[in-house]
Amino acid sequence: MDHIRNFCIIAHIDHGKSTLADRLLEYTQTIKITEGQMLDDMDLERERGITIKSHAIQMEYVSNKEKYILNLIDTPGHVDFSYEVSRSIAACEGALLIVDATQGVQAQTISNLYMAIDHNLEIIPVINKIDMPNAMPEEVEDEIVDLIGCDPEDIIRASGKTGEGVPEILEAIVKRIPAPKGDINAPLQALIFDSIFNSFRGIITLCKVENGVIKKGDKVKFVQTGMEYTADEVGVLKMDMVPSKQLSTGEVGYIISGIKNATEVKVGDTVTHIENPCKNAIEGFQEVKPMVFAGVYPIDPNDYENLRASLEKLQLNDASLTFQPESSQALGFGFRCGFLGLLHMEIIQERLDREFNMDVITTVPNVSYMVYDKQGNVKEVHNPSGLPDQTMIDHIEEPYIKASIITSSEYIGPIMTLCLDKRGELVSQNYVSGNRLELIFMIPLGEIVIDFYDKLKSISKGYASFDYHIDSFRPSKLAKLDILLNGEPVDALSTLTHESNAVVFGRRMCEKLKDLIPRQQFDIAIQAAIGAKIVARETVKQVRKDVTAKCYGGDISRKRKLLEKQKKGKKRMKQIGNVQVPQKAFLAVLKLD
Ligand code: GDP
Ligand code: MG
Repeated sequence: MDHIRNFCIIAHIDHGKSTLADRLLEYTQTIKITEGQMLDDMDLERERGITIKSHAIQMEYVSNKEKYILNLIDTPGHVDFSYEVSRSIAACEGALLIVDATQGVQAQTISNLYMAIDHNLEIIPVINKIDMPNAMPEEVEDEIVDLIGCDPEDIIRASGKTGEGVPEILEAIVKRIPAPKGDINAPLQALIFDSIFNSFRGIITLCKVENGVIKKGDKVKFVQTGMEYTADEVGVLKMDMVPSKQLSTGEVGYIISGIKNATEVKVGDTVTHIENPCKNAIEGFQEVKPMVFAGVYPIDPNDYENLRASLEKLQLNDASLTFQPESSQALGFGFRCGFLGLLHMEIIQERLDREFNMDVITTVPNVSYMVYDKQGNVKEVHNPSGLPDQTMIDHIEEPYIKASIITSSEYIGPIMTLCLDKRGELVSQNYVSGNRLELIFMIPLGEIVIDFYDKLKSISKGYASFDYHIDSFRPSKLAKLDILLNGEPVDALSTLTHESNAVVFGRRMCEKLKDLIPRQQFDIAIQAAIGAKIVARETVKQVRKDVTAKCYGGDISRKRKLLEKQKKGKKRMKQIGNVQVPQKAFLAVLKLD
């Protein structure tokens, strides 16, 4: 046990976590890297440059003639997955805190650092990318010293590109991070910090043994879910899974027990033996609940069962995705899907498209609301159209987030305006260094879901970083805004907005939809209504578009091509009443300016 070191790497996105991890694996000859990065194994992930699912990998390292086992536990880098980050961190005794020498401390640097400090981790600060011409190691060093109160000498300067500083980092891991503690003779207690889906082996549970020993063949129980299994195989993760007889206190490894569906394995749960179980579960378990919801509908109604099958498959390896059948007057039969956040939603949408070739319409995302009726009953509502009649409602509560934004002082004005516009309240502002500040806001999550992130990026020219955590549900005066096409309400376009900006919002929706809905052979009236009251109206004027007219009769094949082209253009359209509505219209609300 004294020759084990369990650590993770925490960093703001793009500060070089994956690259540096690769250098560590290379230096310890765990892997040979030819090209690309080894830790992010999903295509999508690589493209986006973010580690979506955390994994663990074991290295061997010799320091002063002693052999050490170093377990690197990779943490996901986005706020949507912050609970998974906190569980990965909980499995470690130390953390490398990576800060980009050209960017300095950013929002996720701070939020991840706080999580690591909460779990009493030894922090090794690293300034990365010092090879870059615009690196500012001195300034960043000051920021780090201010942030964690360390000695400047404790900060390692490194480059994931040239490999500089990598040997120093490995030595620091051995010297500064404490060995795991725990009682090998106590009942088994292992923390589940992740799971991996494998199409041959099923769900592979990743865990760290806090106390006791788990052996191949043991009968085990997951404390929170109460499910019982046989540990068919246990082992450690190197570049491949390496089976072993047992995993002992302090060790990080995997358990295979014939689990087919990821929803059975809850990150943060405790594994123990059925006989002689541990008295208490490892603390801090929390059920991850989706907070952002959207309707997902097949464009072709015949694809409904295929869509269900695809969502079921996605759920096999993504336990945080939820879905329930729902129907919409406008869109027919589909599913209400629940996501951890916006990024998670985008990932699922893309995977449906790429891996399952599903043509779907996604509706405007919304958050989960707590609706209190006059009798004092509370109901969770995931869809504006599922809201009870206004007269039955006593009040509605919506989720608020605590948001941290780091930016240089020149952008403070516009950022304040944006956040206040989004019904945010400024909680505090702290200096990070020189002219950079951290602003803490409480903002309704529902406002973030709609075009906040893009706006923040554009007004700060990309120089603001953002991080958030769900804080609480709070009462809000919300109004349901309906959109009518030729007098017919389109349920899939309904939104809940704050009373104070519902009218303006309705007007902008109508204007936007007017741009997005193509002219058809009759006028289309677009109206916004709150209850029975129409608050805005626009008209898409009719057109008689005879596309073949400009071919001057003659060329038949050219005519046919044109018609085919027109047909294709219709593919991403949904017929609502007699109106053709393009997919973009359902997300119009996301792009209001
Ligand atoms: P992550 O999001 O923290 O995992 O960041 P990545 O490891 O994916 O790195 C983000 C980008 O920075 C990639 O384009 C890397 O090639 C680049 N990068 C990472 N480390 C260094 C470094 O030390 N020097 C330079 N010049 N580029 C780096
Ligand atoms: Mg990465």
